[in-house]
Amino acid sequence: MRAVLSAREIQLTKSLGQNFLHDANQLERIVAAGKLTKADKVLEIGPGLGPLTELLLARTGEVLAIEKDARLVAVLRERFGLESRLQPVGRAPTQPPEGGTPNLELLHDDALDFLRREPRDWSGWKLVANLPYSVASPILVELAQSPKRPERMVVTLQLEVAQRLMASADDDDYGILTLLVQLDYEPRDWFKIPATCFFPSPDVDSACVTLVRRATPLLADEHRAAFVKIVKRGFSQRRKMMLKLLKADWPLERLEMAFAELGIPPQTRAEKVSLELFARLACRLNVQPGQP
Ligand code: SAM
Repeated sequence: MRAVLSAREIQLTKSLGQNFLHDANQLERIVAAGKLTKADKVLEIGPGLGPLTELLLARTGEVLAIEKDARLVAVLRERFGLESRLQPVGRAPTQPPEGGTPNLELLHDDALDFLRREPRDWSGWKLVANLPYSVASPILVELAQSPKRPERMVVTLQLEVAQRLMASADDDDYGILTLLVQLDYEPRDWFKIPATCFFPSPDVDSACVTLVRRATPLLADEHRAAFVKIVKRGFSQRRKMMLKLLKADWPLERLEMAFAELGIPPQTRAEKVSLELFARLACRLNVQPGQP
């Protein structure tokens, strides 16, 4: 990695989270967590110099990799022989490209902008990525909230964020990220990745988490906006009672009735309320009074 970077005089950019995973065992564990087959399509965000991309290409049918740094896109193009796909002038556009890696599509883009700009059907895709840490949470929320969300997400990120993804009610790490992702994903396995496995070593610990899309959604689509609103409002001031916070959006009588029906004591704080109760509360509050 050092040789590739210094040959091209690439100085790594800290704000882009450029800590490259060089440990072959850890890369192998990440790919294994993807449970990949040749029928799979994989989205990789932040391929960097491409070590994970190479393993993914060997195990899957198709990889879409999105990298923001133009210097790394140039390295990846060379590594995977994508230059030859540029059609020479005069060649009929229908002629197939020569050489390269036919099952790799490499995009030079900001992944978060791309996901927001071009909503796609990701339902037949898996995300396997060593995410740029600064945008890992918004990327996961964006994908999890997409109506056609990926079937599996295997992501390497800061340990602290991994703990939030796996938390349950009453844990210190339980909060908005937990609920927005767990509404549609069950956290399964995880493992810690030591900082020494990256170049350069990050200041924080890292972990790889596997999130599997729920077979049966906990909430119908029409109640999702209400769920997001309740979760964000409920955690807007962690120490305050949730019912008092929700008064900003719903009439007190409706809140009191819904809390009573669901057996949530009025003085409860959001951090004590389970995912299932949040989902049921969203249904109750979203149904107009008088509706069944
Ligand atoms: N996958 C590589 C590996 O495992 O060694 C690199 C992972 S590194 C933690 C994160 C990568 O994401 C870097 O290559 C960085 O340039 C890229 N990146 C940062 N922000 C990005 C964004 N918004 N969209 C796409 N790629 C981004």
